[in-house]
Amino acid sequence: MLTPANETELSAMVVEASGPLWITGGGTCGMAAPAGAEVMSTAGLSGISLYEPGALTVVAAAGTPLAEVEAALAKENQRLPFEPRDLRKLLATDGEATIGGVVATNASGPRRMQAGACRDSLIGVRFVDGSGTAIKNGGRVMKNVTGYDLVKLMAGSYGTLGVLSEVSFKVLPGVAARSCVMLDGLSDAQAVEAMCVAMGSPYEVTGAVHLPHGADGAPVTMLRLEGFAESVSYRTGKLREILAAFGAARVETDPEAVQRSWQEVRDVEAFAGRDGDVWRVSVKPTDAPGIAARIKGEVIFDWAGGLIWALMPEGTDLRARLGNFAGHATRVRGEGGGARFQPEAAPVAALAAALRGKFDPRGILNTGLMG
Ligand SMILES: Cc1cc2nc3c(=O)[nH]c(=O)nc-3n(C[C@H](O)[C@H](O)[C@H](O)COP(=O)(O)OP(=O)(O)OC[C@H]3O[C@@H](n4cnc5c(N)ncnc54)[C@H](O)[C@@H]3O)c2cc1C
Repeated sequence: MLTPANETELSAMVVEASGPLWITGGGTCGMAAPAGAEVMSTAGLSGISLYEPGALTVVAAAGTPLAEVEAALAKENQRLPFEPRDLRKLLATDGEATIGGVVATNASGPRRMQAGACRDSLIGVRFVDGSGTAIKNGGRVMKNVTGYDLVKLMAGSYGTLGVLSEVSFKVLPGVAARSCVMLDGLSDAQAVEAMCVAMGSPYEVTGAVHLPHGADGAPVTMLRLEGFAESVSYRTGKLREILAAFGAARVETDPEAVQRSWQEVRDVEAFAGRDGDVWRVSVKPTDAPGIAARIKGEVIFDWAGGLIWALMPEGTDLRARLGNFAGHATRVRGEGGGARFQPEAAPVAALAAALRGKFDPRGILNTGLMG
């Protein structure tokens, strides 16, 4: 295994590579290196190099454990805005997710609808491309991005355009108080309608999830509010009022109970430890009930319906089952270890191939992973 200790070594190792490289951070994604690829670990690129709480900015080497970054922020009552998921139980993997892995997969949790994805908080990257050139883009403030915005490009590129060596984020203050407004017994269609009403309201909902099979097997729709205690209390009342047509809402205000239930939702724990493949399907929220009916499996609606998690019998070809639909389906757990990405539409595939040709002319970085 190649384990560069710094960016210079990383560059040299990429230059010297004679065949395909498989980049790994914490390995928590569950994707295995393809046969014949040499594994390159980012474990040696570790540590927070700059954290300025007053400037709401953190810079860390790509192999820094996510938990280390989150702990440093928590000490100052700050957090990453995009609520990355911990999918280790779901994917039956262990190890420690790295901040570079989070960026490479553009990870984000339920708060994405309100705070954006990882990409939206990322303000700078350093990476080594497939010819060994070290590239820096962006910096510590948003306006530093000039020319091509490679920062956004690298988020979600799954190591196919370069090996990230350092990432910079803008961060947010911690959450003072939170509540969860819950509606019971809604059909999928009613739930998506209620979640859309909530998301369209001025009450700053930071999570909207529908579990057709909640804790006691019955449907529950959950809406999360966060902020200062007085504001959360006011907005909770208002949200209940505007959702009255969907039934009398229950409210949970115990901070630990709210935290726990949203962590379970964030980490898709309902499907952890159970047989079957897991897929994530991205759709327009209003299309979600119809798509869920076609999925014919157990589902969870996150992002107000924009993200459907589906537990399917092993080997199900969900894309074939869904046929043509406006969205994309990615298998995240299944035989052969994990991710199977939706093939890109021809124009997008051509663009992606051209980008890979520029950044990785020898085609050695995570070859074949994304097309
Ligand atoms: C298909 C899929 C969908 C996911 N969806 C979500 C989601 O919606 N929200 C969420 O929060 N989490 C999601 N995750 C989990 C998220 O990917 C992990 O939390 C994170 O990647 C773990 O970091 P790691 O260090 O363990 O990454 P690894 O498992 O080591 O690697 C993950 C991917 O990133 C690449 N990679 C890792 N480090 C680098 C680097 N320094 N430079 C370049 N490439 C690198 C790897 O080659 C691999 O392709 C998803 C995972 C998969 C497989």
